[in-house]
Amino acid sequence: MDTMEDLLRRNQQFVQEKTSGMADYFQRFSDGQSPDYFVISCSDSRINPAVTFMGDLGEFFVHRNVGNQVVESDQSFTAALFYALNVLNIKKILIIGHTNCGAINAACQGNALPKELSPWIENIEKAVSEEERKSLQIDDVSKRNVQAQVENLKKHPVYQGHEDSVTVQGLIYDVGSGKIDII
Ligand SMILES: [Zn+2]
Repeated sequence: MDTMEDLLRRNQQFVQEKTSGMADYFQRFSDGQSPDYFVISCSDSRINPAVTFMGDLGEFFVHRNVGNQVVESDQSFTAALFYALNVLNIKKILIIGHTNCGAINAACQGNALPKELSPWIENIEKAVSEEERKSLQIDDVSKRNVQAQVENLKKHPVYQGHEDSVTVQGLIYDVGSGKIDII
C-alpha cells in the first residue's frame, strides 16, 4: 500500500499531467460547477463513474452509498438530490448498480449482520422481495435493486415536480468486464 508521501506524489503527477497541455486546466473549476449528471452509485471501490465513462472533473455530481440506495429518510441523499435538481439544475439522473455487490449478497444470504450494517441492508430487503432474493442470481438481484431504487427516486418528494424535465436511468456495471448496460 502506498504511503501518504506516495499518494501526494501521485497527486503532483496528476496536476502535472492535467496542466501540461492546458496550463489553465483547473481555472474553470475555481468558479463553480455545472455537471450534466447526478449519479447514485455503490461505494464499491471497483466502480468509479467518472473513470468508467471516461469523464472529466466537473461532469458528474455523485452520491455514493452501500448498495446504491435511494432512501427517503437519508438526509445526506436528500440534500444531494435537492442540490442536484434545484441548484445545479441537473436534468439526467443515473442510478448505477454493479455485479458481485457485497450489499446485495448480504441481503440475499439473510445471515445475521452487525448492528452497524443491518438497518441499511434491510432497505434492500424492503426494495427486493424475499422470493426474488432467494430465486434470482445475485447479479439479477442487483438489477432488481436498481429498478427498485429508480422507483424510490421517482417517489421521492424532492423529485416530485421535476418528472417532466429530469430523466432517471437505471444502469448495471459489470466489475468483471468494465461494461455498463441499461436496465
Ligand atoms: Zn456494491
